[in-house]
Amino acid sequence: MSSKDKHDETILTAGKPSTGVTRRSLVGAALATGAGLALSSISATAKTFESSTHTAKGASSSPIKTIGYAAMDAKTPLRQMNIERRAPGLKDIEAEILYCGVCHSDLHLVRNEWGWSTFPMVAGHEIIGRVVKVGAHVSKFKVGDYVGYGCIADSCGHCSSCQKGEEHHCEDGAGYTSQWQGNYRGTGEKIYGGFSKIIVLGEDYTLKIPDGMDLKSAAPILCAGITTYSPLRHWKIGIGHKVGVVGIGGLGHMGVKFAKALGAEVTAFTTTPWKLDDAKRLGATDAVLWSDKVALAKKANSLDFILDTIPEDHDINGLLATLRAYGTLCGPGNILNYSNVSNTQLVIKRRSLAGSQIGGIAEHQEVLDFCAKHKIGADVQVIAPNEIETAFDRMMKREIKYRSVVDMSLWKA
Ligand SMILES: [Zn+2]
Ligand SMILES: [Zn+2]
Repeated sequence: MSSKDKHDETILTAGKPSTGVTRRSLVGAALATGAGLALSSISATAKTFESSTHTAKGASSSPIKTIGYAAMDAKTPLRQMNIERRAPGLKDIEAEILYCGVCHSDLHLVRNEWGWSTFPMVAGHEIIGRVVKVGAHVSKFKVGDYVGYGCIADSCGHCSSCQKGEEHHCEDGAGYTSQWQGNYRGTGEKIYGGFSKIIVLGEDYTLKIPDGMDLKSAAPILCAGITTYSPLRHWKIGIGHKVGVVGIGGLGHMGVKFAKALGAEVTAFTTTPWKLDDAKRLGATDAVLWSDKVALAKKANSLDFILDTIPEDHDINGLLATLRAYGTLCGPGNILNYSNVSNTQLVIKRRSLAGSQIGGIAEHQEVLDFCAKHKIGADVQVIAPNEIETAFDRMMKREIKYRSVVDMSLWKA
């Protein structure tokens, strides 16, 4: 989830051609290795970048008119709005949106809880679609393919992070261009997210959905999945590790599945009693109420790594005490700040407190392929587009098990 899009609209000049290069050939090389996190090791040799791919408009294309569920401001409920996507370019994919997950970040965004939202906004960044048209220079997708889009709609393509395939760390301006606001780099039209019926994006930012995946369960992999998978891979979690996953919601339930699939022994920490047993169904060996100080004390100095997915401020000091020496607590995603962290809990065991947000495009593909291989999908509840506000309310009441996914075929005109 991005924390870097607040100035997108100011850094992207309408109509100004991008001078960026893309690194699809590099990403392709990374995918071939099956190791998105090893990108840095190949970046020095894989420098055969293509020239800019997503800036040229097709001569005969017209802007795509479609509809979205939009926040007009931070106070009023979402409502249907006519929107225009950019005219598909030579390297663009036009896809019919089939499903889109509802992430807690969508709620933060439409309520402007991070303070940088721009309106009107169509949120939604866990997008599954089917290709309906491809530009003349698109080489990796064809009409009818199932495709995915996550948080990253665009990036500069030429900074050191983009060259390594780590577009989520793009160093240009305010960072990568998000799926929910800002403008296309190069052509300048406004970007809208996935609570919509049609999307137009560059081939370089389009992901292949592996054959046979359940599409609605695959949607949350594009944010909840990559957000939890990437830190587990970065900290090299595997067999023999003990991992804590805090917060068993959209992110956390994926974190449990991934940590288990990677070979770790998982302890789930939840505030919700009914999730104790369910966490074990998801793959946890143990599950405790993390507000239970006695239960937490029994876990002291036992965990190698904690993935803390709670999207609100909370006291992590009891959780830090469950880490072994040199252990790390990582808060992935853009949570509100930890307001009270005990430095003592960090220094006495040389523990680390870390952050992480999504992953690069290559790693998005990696997690999709990992999910296909290990038969992992999100646990989802399908809703209609006009039920997104209800889904937000249910999310706050911790009633969702574990991700609401909008089915666009249920759109009522
Ligand atoms: Zn998200
Ligand atoms: Zn960049």
